[in-house]
Amino acid sequence: MKIYYYTFGCKVNQYETENLRQKLSSQGYETVNEPGCADICIINTCTVTARSDSKFKQLLHRIKRAAPDSMIVVTGCFAQAFPEKAHELDGCHIITGTSKQEIPLLIQEYLRDKKPIIRIGKHEKGEAFQPMENKPSAAKTRAYVKIQDGCDQYCSYCIIPYARGHIRSKPIDELKKEVQGLARGGYKEVVLTGINLCCYGKDFVDGTRLVDAVEAACEVQGIERVRLSSMEPEMLLDEDIELMSRLEKLCPQFHLSLQSGCDKTLKKMNRKYTCAQYKELCLKLRRAFPDCVITTDVMVGFAGETDEDFMQTMEFVKEIGFERVHIFPYSVRKGTAAEKFDGQVQKQVKQQRAQQLEKVCGQIRREFLLSNVGRKVKVLFEKEKGDGFHRGYTMNYTPVAVKQTNDCSWRWQTRTVTITGVEGDFCIAQAEE
Ligand code: SF4
Repeated sequence: MKIYYYTFGCKVNQYETENLRQKLSSQGYETVNEPGCADICIINTCTVTARSDSKFKQLLHRIKRAAPDSMIVVTGCFAQAFPEKAHELDGCHIITGTSKQEIPLLIQEYLRDKKPIIRIGKHEKGEAFQPMENKPSAAKTRAYVKIQDGCDQYCSYCIIPYARGHIRSKPIDELKKEVQGLARGGYKEVVLTGINLCCYGKDFVDGTRLVDAVEAACEVQGIERVRLSSMEPEMLLDEDIELMSRLEKLCPQFHLSLQSGCDKTLKKMNRKYTCAQYKELCLKLRRAFPDCVITTDVMVGFAGETDEDFMQTMEFVKEIGFERVHIFPYSVRKGTAAEKFDGQVQKQVKQQRAQQLEKVCGQIRREFLLSNVGRKVKVLFEKEKGDGFHRGYTMNYTPVAVKQTNDCSWRWQTRTVTITGVEGDFCIAQAEE
């Protein structure tokens, strides 16, 4: 049977779909790229914003039209966080939550009984990290490795703790085994990822922490780079920075979720740091990793955010000089504390603020890219897109493009190049003679 997969949302979701795909492929199911050719369509949902929900519903509608006879499986955060809404979905054959382990069996059950299945389990305190190991698949340079799940922070705007449950971590030996397998399959870079990555190890009794996971991944032969996905700023301790700065394979790129540059708003968001503490952390990271890049997420138009609060965020973003910012307008998530907050900001105002901030961040990004001109950098090149360039990333995730040569051996190679200019969001470089 043929399966079409569609994944919304974060790298954790991408990783989990890939895991499911690998399991089903090993049972003889074939992967197809179009829903119209599929016997089964699996949609892995995200519910981080209202927009994610509406995109999912639009896709569901399209799939039902393109593949009216296929079995539709809906899984992921939307169904887990809003089971009552999941029950109302029309024309779906299997609906599960964020635990995807049972999907192969549920498919068998549906094929046998032909009865719709809705099975959304509950997350329990103390539940174990679901064993998952992705094998090397289509040849790529970079692999994501999920090492943590769940969040107990309950930021007032965020639905994720309700969808993902409590914190739990992948044991170090399992992490190492997975990274070794990926290295044997030719991967050069791994990105350690999780729902709240800095909480890695908090569920272990032996004091294991994120830095231990990073060390374990760095020790794997064949892996040249270890990258970290998004982190919560208050959880990165001085001793972690000190230990991590000694790991040569650790990429100096830190995505520290900011959300707002206004203390009053941060407090309402139930974030656990102030702007001053955030700034201090950036200074420490820039001291420990002189070539580091700091990126972030900023939410605009949170309930009660005034023009003045927003201006404070703008100024703070300029002051830190983030090399990249992911900006998104706040959307009310049912069931969160912020749902009941006064002072909800009009949609149009949120959009205006997002555009204003985008403009400022775009200028900072361009200045950052231009500041690289003249530098010699090491780039790990990736699969060519056939557009006449070899493309890849530096350790700090600066995108670099080199005009394609007849030499085809650039893919998966680390080469030293000199940056000569900037085009769009890429630094343009020349190869060493
Ligand atoms: S730390 Fe806050 S924003 Fe991040 S997943 Fe947890 S509750 Fe959501």
